[in-house]
Amino acid sequence: DWMNVSRFDVTSVVRELSEVLGKTFRREIRVHSDNAVYMKGDKEKVRQLLLILIDNAIKYSKEPIDVRIRHSKNTIKLEVTDYGIGVPESEIPYMFERFYRVDEARHRSTGGSGLGLSIAKKIVDIHEGTVEVYSKQGNGTTIAIQFPRK
Ligand code: ATP
Repeated sequence: DWMNVSRFDVTSVVRELSEVLGKTFRREIRVHSDNAVYMKGDKEKVRQLLLILIDNAIKYSKEPIDVRIRHSKNTIKLEVTDYGIGVPESEIPYMFERFYRVDEARHRSTGGSGLGLSIAKKIVDIHEGTVEVYSKQGNGTTIAIQFPRK
């Protein structure tokens, strides 16, 4: 994939995006982060990744959403947590596949294409990152992205 690599502050990307999405959808999006967290990567693509995750959190929950940015010497961790419908354990392995939608979502009037997470996964992959999903049906979902720090 073609990438436009620079060094940028992930925290400010998250804060800007959270403000716009919070206002647009009238939802509380809480950002938890210390200072500026710099990463080397494609800023626009990382922004798109966060947009997909926060957009899903908005669509599949009603409570406030928590976004956490953590960093250590070698990694940067981004976590988006919602307290919504959750994903059944058996469906988690498939949710990043193209056009895949969990039953409950498929029946929602506010549709989606099922492409969001497959694009998100591609963006993580080209940054050599990993994705983990923690979810409990009826309780909510955390999508945790980890990038190596370069
Ligand atoms: P779109 O492509 O418009 O984002 P989508 O939300 O259906 O549509 P994906 O983002 O790829 O597609 O997500 C795939 C499926 O994973 C969703 O249809 C939904 O069933 C499930 N899912 C994703 N995020 C969450 C979440 N935060 N809570 C519950 N289910 C989720």
